[in-house]
Amino acid sequence: MGFISLGCPKNLVDSEVMMGLLDRAGARLTAHPEDAEILVVNTCSFIDTAKQESVDTILEMARFKTSGSARKLIVAGCLVERYRDEIIKNIPEVDAVVGTGELESILQAAGLTMPEAAVSASPFNILSGAAAETRPGKEAQAGTHMAHGPELVQNENSPKGRPGKESLAATHKHETTSRSEGDAREQQGRFARDDWQGAAHLLPTYLYDESTPRYLTTPKSSAYIKIAEGCDHPCTFCVIPNLRGKFRSRRFESVVAEARQLVARGVEEITLIGQDTTCYGEDLGLKDGLATLLDEMARVDGLRWLRFLYAYPNRITGRLLETIARHDNICKYLDVPLQHASPSVLKTMKRGAGAEIFLKTLEKVRAAVPGIALRTSFIVGFPGESTEDLTILEDFITEAKFDWLGVFGYSDEEGSAAFPLEGKLPKRTIEARKKRVMKLQQKISKRAKQQWVGRELLLLAEGESEETPLLWEGRTEFHAPEIDGKVYINDFGELDAPVAGRFYRAEITEAHDYDLVARIVSEAV
Ligand code: SF4
Repeated sequence: MGFISLGCPKNLVDSEVMMGLLDRAGARLTAHPEDAEILVVNTCSFIDTAKQESVDTILEMARFKTSGSARKLIVAGCLVERYRDEIIKNIPEVDAVVGTGELESILQAAGLTMPEAAVSASPFNILSGAAAETRPGKEAQAGTHMAHGPELVQNENSPKGRPGKESLAATHKHETTSRSEGDAREQQGRFARDDWQGAAHLLPTYLYDESTPRYLTTPKSSAYIKIAEGCDHPCTFCVIPNLRGKFRSRRFESVVAEARQLVARGVEEITLIGQDTTCYGEDLGLKDGLATLLDEMARVDGLRWLRFLYAYPNRITGRLLETIARHDNICKYLDVPLQHASPSVLKTMKRGAGAEIFLKTLEKVRAAVPGIALRTSFIVGFPGESTEDLTILEDFITEAKFDWLGVFGYSDEEGSAAFPLEGKLPKRTIEARKKRVMKLQQKISKRAKQQWVGRELLLLAEGESEETPLLWEGRTEFHAPEIDGKVYINDFGELDAPVAGRFYRAEITEAHDYDLVARIVSEAV
């Protein structure tokens, strides 16, 4: 089996669950698509470029049905939720499709069944040895997340270790909860997909749990945990709620149990993800659910770094900030996508607020957690965005001084509430605005990074730099996996070389526009 995962970490976790299920049913991963009998492409459908990459990858893999050993090509993920019928009709090489809410039907799609006898004496089933030849590598993962280590995560509390049919059925039976906000938005048609040809009638409701087999593809020391799925917000540019369904949280105990299992396998950094992590637990009746969850998870022995991504700005509570400040192992890092700063653009985006309110929020965050690194992302070129709106955004960026900032050009998504809006801007204007904002941030980032020079920080060594084997790359608590700048290690101190996945004390010696340079001082205890 060859598996390609496109898109965001949330999609990556879905891929890991599907790989875990396939593995349990007897399939073995290969890094070489030409050798795979079953090829799976887990697609992204966020914006146009992501859709194009998904289609290109499907077509690239389809070639292995004639030039390789592939018998089956399966397409999974967001593109399926959106274009189910069209994929089947227009790409005849595709044998089956699997939507985001039906991960377990990957088995049926692959023609595999979970054997009753797939029960082992060990509660943990970590693949080893032969894995070196069978793990997916870059060749099979063009432009994707690559599987580094074939580790299966399995519920330590599940009665017989490996889940047989019963536990798979149990994950199907997960009782879906919802927030009143989500129910109201459903009534208003927020999740409607009537115009989407072939979209499954029912919205996805699936949630994996701690007993679902999962194949870890991230480097040994780090893992993501998806704590919730779906989104109830009305952002007009976004079709994710239509693709992924209403917001629903995983059970509190399930998330904590998964964290314990991961740490027991050597994971030292956990990143919590969901479309909006700050809504966690609201559907379960929890108040300040994310803060409560972080508080509990921070107590897991051996967990060095715990962080969450995708906070919604008006849900950053005092209790959440206190929790981040209180625990040494909760990274002093906050990712809060703001999308814009002009109140009028934010109003049309149906997100509300504006620069003034955001600055107050950031002030509150920095006061509660001194030294915290802040990440955000913006969309420029939204329909009707005037030059004044852009100036408001630029002034805000100058004042807010984010450590990390991503800028997206508006992508017109059919089916989004913004699609019929007037005032669309030409593509070249959108591109020019994007460049302008990025250039502004470059200067701010350079200045901000200078302040880190001379500091001694905990550093996770990730491996040799892709540019030269003389340099290594790593991250501090202020760098989330894959999205932020890098720390280049050019001096290993008394070591011959660092070990990938290990933590060190390191001194930051230089700062560039986005990246830092460090020297290792000692091994971390
Ligand atoms: S918060 Fe807004 S942008 Fe984010 S997933 Fe939900 S609807 Fe989309």
